[in-house]
Amino acid sequence: MSAEAQEESLLAEDIATTDAAEDPKKSRKVRGRAASRTGTRSSVKPMRTVAIFAAVGALVAAVALPAYAATGGTSAKSGAATLQQMAADDAQSLVVASEATTAPLDRGTYAATTPDEIAKKKAEEAAKKRAAAAAAARTAGAGGRLSDADLRLVAAGSGEVRYPLPQGSYYVSRTVGSGHNGADMVAPAGTPIFAAAGGVVRVSSESYFGYGVAIVIDSVVGGQRVSTLYGHMTNGTRAVSAGQTVQPGQFIGKVGNTGRSYGAHLHFEVHVNGSLVEPISWLRANAG
Ligand SMILES: [Zn+2]
Repeated sequence: MSAEAQEESLLAEDIATTDAAEDPKKSRKVRGRAASRTGTRSSVKPMRTVAIFAAVGALVAAVALPAYAATGGTSAKSGAATLQQMAADDAQSLVVASEATTAPLDRGTYAATTPDEIAKKKAEEAAKKRAAAAAAARTAGAGGRLSDADLRLVAAGSGEVRYPLPQGSYYVSRTVGSGHNGADMVAPAGTPIFAAAGGVVRVSSESYFGYGVAIVIDSVVGGQRVSTLYGHMTNGTRAVSAGQTVQPGQFIGKVGNTGRSYGAHLHFEVHVNGSLVEPISWLRANAG
């Protein structure tokens, strides 16, 4: 056996005996021989192993500790912990917090305190965006200014304006802003859609631009011209045709995932006198 081959076989044996640890005396002896032949090589290996263990330990601590802290914080405050409170802790716990709040929203527990708070915050943010959009439209001369007060066209809960989806069946994933003209109301495919206001169907199509299967209804609410658009509906579920008169709350079709859509949801748009409004705030103000 050449010196090189012998060294290789010794190293192989070293690894094998270390793993098995059947004969510690033999192992020690072989290791000693290997060390004398290979110099620093075998002493470097345990050092490296210790370093790796330390690094892994540090990683585990880095990953586990903030998560533990976040969990502790949540349970201490019970259900009262809001997204904002979680965000105040640190950036890493915010990830945990946002994931935690997704589940109750998905289940459609809209009456729960936390989703309501989130919806309220979203509406406030949307109001700011709408104000900015209205200001831009005014500058461009594209339409009249639309303040928050203008949102209320009829008495809330009068029945003239209805929610387009059953309460508790959806959550709002995004609303008007940065090129997006409506509110995305996430609900299971097949959820019934109702006319938000009575009027005349202007569009009822299986393929309406990026909206896919869509319906547009022109209405007069509180003396103002209101157009509502319902997009991404399920193919073959439209219950009304163009030119038809519909009542507020009338069934018009079902939620789907057609057109430029990634997941079942209703894209709901509201235009008042030709100006875009934030649909959820508008619904709150008029549908009650
Ligand atoms: Zn949308």
